[in-house]
Amino acid sequence: MAYVITEACIDVMDKSCVDVCPVDCIHFEEGADRMLYINPEECIDCGACEPACPVNAIYAEDAVPDSQEAFKEINALWYEDPDQARARVEQWKPIGVSPA
Ligand code: SF4
Ligand code: SF4
Repeated sequence: MAYVITEACIDVMDKSCVDVCPVDCIHFEEGADRMLYINPEECIDCGACEPACPVNAIYAEDAVPDSQEAFKEINALWYEDPDQARARVEQWKPIGVSPA
């Protein structure tokens, strides 16, 4: 299992989660990404990041809301193909469009 970052992080990127992660498995590229991603291979399921997030963007994998299921794949994808992951985020929430 792993923890997963979801839609609420997009364009927020507060980074509190990065500060509390004991294994440094939350990453993004400054200037290129609109959200952060948890590496599912490295996450040790400690849960420290979840309460640290001010917008409640982080869930345990088995608690991800149905509407946010796609982000399980998007988090993992970023570690294999960041451009594709960014394209999925852009599809999900095109830049400049306000949340509904
Ligand atoms: S604390 Fe929440 S909003 Fe901030 S980077 Fe982490 S997941 Fe994104
Ligand atoms: S659950 Fe723990 S190990 Fe996994 S991303 Fe969050 S802080 Fe890091």
